Amino acid sequence: RAKKGGGNTFRFYNEGMNTSSVERLNLETRLRHAVDNGELLLYYQPQVNLHSGEIIGAEALIRWQHPEMGLVSPLKFIPLAEETGLIFPIGEWVMRTACAQIKAWQDGGMMTPPVAVNLSAHQFRQRHLVKMTTGVLLDSGIDGRYLELEMTESAMMEDTDRVIRVLRELKEAGMTISIDDFGTGYSSLSYLKQFAIDKLKVDQSFVREITRDPKDAAIVVAIITMAHSLGLNVIAEGVETEGQLEYLRSHGCDEMQGYFFSRPVPVGDFEQMLRSGRKLTLNGQADESGRR
Ligand code: C2E
Ligand code: MG
Ligand code: MG
Ligand code: MG
Repeated sequence: RAKKGGGNTFRFYNEGMNTSSVERLNLETRLRHAVDNGELLLYYQPQVNLHSGEIIGAEALIRWQHPEMGLVSPLKFIPLAEETGLIFPIGEWVMRTACAQIKAWQDGGMMTPPVAVNLSAHQFRQRHLVKMTTGVLLDSGIDGRYLELEMTESAMMEDTDRVIRVLRELKEAGMTISIDDFGTGYSSLSYLKQFAIDKLKVDQSFVREITRDPKDAAIVVAIITMAHSLGLNVIAEGVETEGQLEYLRSHGCDEMQGYFFSRPVPVGDFEQMLRSGRKLTLNGQADESGRR
C-alpha cells in the first residue's frame, strides 16, 4: 500500500514485474521447444448422447508435460501461445495428432466417433486455415466427418464475408463446426443464421447452477429451444452432477460433456472406454460394465 512508503511499494512492484517477465520469458522459451521435444499431448474427454447414453464424440484437449514443471494447463500456455504466434505450429500439431489418432483407431478396426479440436480465433484468422486443415485431413487419410472444429463466438465476429466463405469451405471438406462456450462471447445472434454451424456448446458457467438458479436454467432452455429451431445440435459442457444431467435431458438437450461421465483422460483410457462400450445408464450413472 502507498501509505507504507513509496520506496517499499515501488521496489516490491518492480520485483514482482521482473519475476513475472522472467517467468514469462522462461515459459515462452520452454514452449518453443515443447513441440519439438514431444512434450505436448492430447487428452480426450468423451461426449455422450443424453438419450442413448452412448459416446458420440470426444473433445481433444491439449496438455503440456514438462520434465520439471509437470502437467501444465492450457489455460496457462494457450494465451501465451496466442501472443507469441506459437499457436500456429501448436494448433497444427493438435489437428495432426487428433487425425493420426483417429486413423490409428480405424486401422485397428475400432468404431470411432468424431473428435473435436479447439481452434483459437488467431488460427481462424490465419490465411491458410482451409488449406492447412484440408491438407492435414488428406495426409492422415481420414474422412472429414471425423473432425469437428470448435470455435468461439469472437472468431465469428470479424470479416463476415470471409467467415461465411471459410466455414463453407471447411464444411465442404466434411468437417463439423461447433461454437464453444456459447453465450459468453460478444454476441450478435445474427451470425447463427448466416454461418454454416452445426452445434452449440452451452458454456459451463450456465450449467453450473442450473438446478439452483432459475435464470441460468432459463438461459439454457432458451439456448436449447433456439438451437433446435435453427436445426442445430446442443451439447452442455461442464456437467458434474446427476441433477444437472437430468435437468438437461428433460429439457431436450442432445448431448453432454463433463466430469459426471468422465474427465478428460489420456488416450489409452479413452480407447478403453470405446472398447468396452461404456455408456451413461438411464439413472445417470456411468456404466463401467461394458454392457450394451
Ligand atoms: P474448452 O474448450 O471450453 O474446454 C472445456 C474445459 O472444461 C476443459 O478444460 C475441460 O477439462 C473442462 N471441463 C470439462 N468438463 C468439466 C466439468 O464437468 N467441470 C469443470 N469444472 N470443468 C470441466 P481444459 O482442458 O483445462 O482446457 C481449458 C481451455 O483451454 C479449453 O476450454 C480451451 O479453450 C483451451 N484449449 C484446450 N486445448 C486446446 C487446444 O488444443 N487448442 C486451443 N486453441 N485451445 C485449447
Ligand atoms: Mg472446447
Ligand atoms: Mg467450452
Ligand atoms: Mg472454455
